[in-house]
Order: sequence, then C-alpha cells, then structure tokens
Amino acid sequence: MTRLSPRHPRYHSLVVRARLAAAARSGLVVPEGLIAHGRGEAFDYFLGERSSRSALRAERAAAHWLLAARWPVLSINGNVAALAAGEVAGLQRALPNLRVEVNLFHRTPSRVRAVALALRSAGVPRVLGVNARGRLPRLPSDRARIDLRGIARADVCLVPLEDGDRAEALHRRGQRVIAIDLNPLSRTAVVADLPIVDELRRALVQITREVRRDGGRTRPGWFDPVDAPRLLREARRAMADRLRSGTRELASGARASRRPARGSGRPRRRTPGPRSRRRRSPR
Ligand code: ATP
Repeated sequence: MTRLSPRHPRYHSLVVRARLAAAARSGLVVPEGLIAHGRGEAFDYFLGERSSRSALRAERAAAHWLLAARWPVLSINGNVAALAAGEVAGLQRALPNLRVEVNLFHRTPSRVRAVALALRSAGVPRVLGVNARGRLPRLPSDRARIDLRGIARADVCLVPLEDGDRAEALHRRGQRVIAIDLNPLSRTAVVADLPIVDELRRALVQITREVRRDGGRTRPGWFDPVDAPRLLREARRAMADRLRSGTRELASGARASRRPARGSGRPRRRTPGPRSRRRRSPR
C-alpha cells in the first residue's frame, strides 16, 4: 500500500480512501460503495469538511429523537461498517436501547457476515439483520429484507448513507427516518423526516455527544418538531456560500500569482496593450 505523508494537505481524506479501498479488497465494501463515497467527498468539499451550524442543530434533534424513541434502530451498510464501526459502537454504548442492524443493498451471506464481524470487533455486542426474515413492502430484491426484531419494529430509524428507495419505504410505513447524507439533493435526504447533511463520522460523534449531554432529560415518546425542508435549505446555502467565496479566493489567488512578488526583480513597466487601449477609448 502507498505510504501517506501526514504533511499532505489531504492526508485525512487519503487515509479514509485507503481504508475503504482495503475494505473493498476484503469484500466488506462493494465497488459501488467506493463511487458513493466519492460522491459524498465532493459534497463534503463544498461544506469545507466541517459540520455546518444547521447540521449541528440536526444532530442535536437526532439525539433527542433517538432518546425519545421506544425502539430506535441504526441501519448499517458496508461503507458505514468500514468507515465508522467504532463510532457506531460509541453511540450504542451511550444509548444501550439502540439496536444495530445490518442492511445491505448488495446482499450476500458472506458480506452480511463480514459487516457483522466488523461491528462486533468494534464493540457492538448484538448485531441484528444477519437472519433478516421481514420485508419492506413494494421493494424488489434483497434490499427489502429487514430484521423482525429490528427495523420491522422500529419507531425511529437512523439510516446513514441509505438508498432512496429504502428510505422512502421506511417513511411510507410511518417510521421516523433520520438520514445522514452529505448530498442535500439525494432522495434519501429529501424524504427523511430529519435530514443530517454531514459527514458520517462527524455526525455519529456529535449525536453521541448530544445523547450523553442530554443526560436523560428527554421525555420518552416526545419528539421535538423538526423543519426538514429548512434544514435542507440551510445545508444547500452553506455549500453555495462556500462555493461562492471559494471562487473569489481562487480568483484573487490567480491574480496574486500573476503579480510579481515583492522584491523579485525590477518592476516591469506596464505598457498599454491593444486590449487596454481598446478599453480606454471613448465610447
Ligand atoms: P438516493 O438514492 O438517496 O437519491 P444516491 O443514489 O446518491 O441517492 P447512494 O449512492 O445509494 O445514494 O448513497 C450514497 C449517498 O451517501 C450519497 O448521497 C453520498 O453523498 C452519501 N455519502 C457517501 N459517503 C458519505 C459519508 N462518508 N458521509 C455522509 N454521506 C455520505
């Protein structure tokens, strides 16, 4: 494997990529998962690779919903297991009521076992979804499979990096869907009752922090109202603002690089060229 230098400006992102690539080689992650990660990375760039204020608010609300839930379930796919098994275990420790269920778009028995093993090795004591005998209605193929002791009974489902059809199917069943998805335009984010537009690990760590901070003050069955369209709007705005200011930085950076650095030699005399002459001519 290539050695990565911690001095590389994108060191952390490269470490994550290397981890996912290794997980793909071991069969935990499918090639499609690598592409999905690339899509997420692009949106995280737009966010400046940090949680926006509205994401932090969404994470707070998510912690309260999970605490208020009677049967909260966290759904895990290959990417989530590869990237954040430790963070999943951390959240489960903070919220022992939380069930953790394997749910794979590309489901094979060996992948299900690999994901369950990754979670157990990280410290999740009980993993559901290995013998998933329930089904989500109106969904084709193995994507519909759910555990009768997990998602089938859940009142709140936390679904990181979920596919849009499944998120819609959960929503149709009247379950409260909390999505973690960096793409504010994805069907999952749009259909979620509580969309968290943030990077997976940052979101899980922050939700865990909020669960611990709440210290049992949330009332069971009491769900704070959430304005999901507003959260999405704010996420899009945070990205757009950053893109705009990034463009300005780039433009001024480019101008600066054209200017000779101070003391770098004799200043060149600016002679008006044909274009500037044209600009100065009276209209
Ligand atoms: P949908 O089916 O919901 O319309 P999609 O086709 O983009 O969306 P998938 O490819 O199934 O959905 O899921 C990947 C989603 O997860 C993408 O929207 C991507 O932005 C997001 N994503 C990928 N990696 C991360 C990550 N580390 N943290 C948060 N979100 C991520």
